[in-house]
Amino acid sequence: MGTTSTDSDGAAARLRYIQNFVHDHPVTGPAGHSYIPSESRPTAVHSPTPYRLTVLDHISASVDEIAEHTYAANPDAGPVPSQPAAVYDWCHQNTEHAPEADRERLEAIEYRQYLEHAIRAGDDSVVCRHRCPTCRTWGLMWQQHLQRAVCTNSRCHDRAGAASKFTLARLAFEHVATRKNLRQARAT
Ligand SMILES: [Zn+2]
Repeated sequence: MGTTSTDSDGAAARLRYIQNFVHDHPVTGPAGHSYIPSESRPTAVHSPTPYRLTVLDHISASVDEIAEHTYAANPDAGPVPSQPAAVYDWCHQNTEHAPEADRERLEAIEYRQYLEHAIRAGDDSVVCRHRCPTCRTWGLMWQQHLQRAVCTNSRCHDRAGAASKFTLARLAFEHVATRKNLRQARAT
């Protein structure tokens, strides 16, 4: 069901990508390497590898989140795999028979992480592949400083009159709901 790590563009593939990047680009300078060129970083830093640590923190937080929800759905799940990208397959295998609500929650978390990994790697075009949850048009743009997808339809705004904005979690929720509806439509 849903996104699996065998997808060439799934959460596991994206996680492997940022993990390999950190691995293949050992830090040589005091400021570390520049992983996302557009992201501003301080030039003088106290920690030798701030950005690298941020990516590693991101990877371990992602794995921890999947593990936590997998164990909540199936307390008998075995140990978390040592390879971070393998956590998604491990989760699928251990939640196959979990209640549908648990599997849907995990599907949405995995998809949100897929979006997060892609944005970490500088590919925010993943956001544009979603319709705006409010007006259903295709004009979503990622705003890094807001950490939100913003709708560019001038007629689409919130109660205060500002452009509609959505978290990645909201986009993931909508995506999983749409996918579920498609599955149900095919089954009938
Ligand atoms: Zn909109």
